[in-house]
Amino acid sequence: MKTLKITVEGGFHNADEMTVYAKVRTARDGSSYACLSPYQAHKVEAHFCGISDCQCGGASRGTWASPAGWVQDTMERWVQR
Ligand SMILES: [Zn+2]
Repeated sequence: MKTLKITVEGGFHNADEMTVYAKVRTARDGSSYACLSPYQAHKVEAHFCGISDCQCGGASRGTWASPAGWVQDTMERWVQR
């Protein structure tokens, strides 16, 4: 199965670099996209901020890096460009 290597780091709590592999899928129009599973998204969120009542913004404040040719569409989804 093809995956997209995504690295995340930083954010309000200055989290260490972490790697997740987003599953690459094919849309109905034939284009490729990649997305994190709810479990992966939860893990990333917990990596940036594990404090339940914290107002820091968690993963949205982090630095996300994806391979060349891919653009982050939403927090959990990338599209090929
Ligand atoms: Zn926080």
